[in-house]
Amino acid sequence: MSKTKISVIVWNEFQHERENDAIRAIYPDGIHHAIASALRETPALQPGALPLEIGTATLDQSEHGLSEARLADCDVLLWWGHKAHDQVSDAVVERVQRRVLEGMGLIVLHSGHFAKIFRRLLGTNCSLKWREADEKERVWVVEPSHPIAAGLGEYFELPNEEMYGERFDIPQPDSTVFISWFEGGEVFRSGCTWERGHGRIFYFRPGHEAYPTYYDANVQRVLANAVQWAAPRVNIVDRCPMAAPLERLSPKQISFSKVGIQQNKGDIE
Ligand code: ZN
Repeated sequence: MSKTKISVIVWNEFQHERENDAIRAIYPDGIHHAIASALRETPALQPGALPLEIGTATLDQSEHGLSEARLADCDVLLWWGHKAHDQVSDAVVERVQRRVLEGMGLIVLHSGHFAKIFRRLLGTNCSLKWREADEKERVWVVEPSHPIAAGLGEYFELPNEEMYGERFDIPQPDSTVFISWFEGGEVFRSGCTWERGHGRIFYFRPGHEAYPTYYDANVQRVLANAVQWAAPRVNIVDRCPMAAPLERLSPKQISFSKVGIQQNKGDIE
């Protein structure tokens, strides 16, 4: 693929910010706009990184802002959802899943661990322990060579976050980039990668709506790195074709073929 940019959609269910004054005070334009601004303002660290073209989409839009045409152009989709997972239409979930299998990157944030699309792609419950108690979170970088950890120190801290604790019911990640420790004692695999089909998936834990987490410079660095990492390498539409043989087959073998192999008929006559 000879692309000149990475097309990014930041998807947000956009419910808390409209219903709760305290949360709206933190994210007046919605979490999606805070993340989009962060991605615009955080330069890529990788040499030769493509520029980002960033848009947003929300639950209340037609087809949740994720029409067939819009997703076809999307290289990396970020997903923040919490209280309205069940309102996401199955048709859109299937469409996103198909695009991931074709090569689109997907970054699932915080409470998106219960999003239909995340559970569909991973195939497990994705359940965890949680607690809202204004706890400090220390995010340990356990794979410093991973591109998503570029530019970070040995760890970074968020002064107040919701606690997520193990066991996180996910399939074994391809890479566990971050492990969080919380003031109350729990730990959590807070940065995990998988591949499904041709697409890359990254789950990143921090981002509870009641805290200004998406304004944190380290969190913004992780998201910027993750977009570059998750960008498609290929875009392959699924097919399941009957294939002509590469080598000459005998007339007997051809006669076994239930559908008939027209392509090398000339070879065997
Ligand atoms: Zn939360």
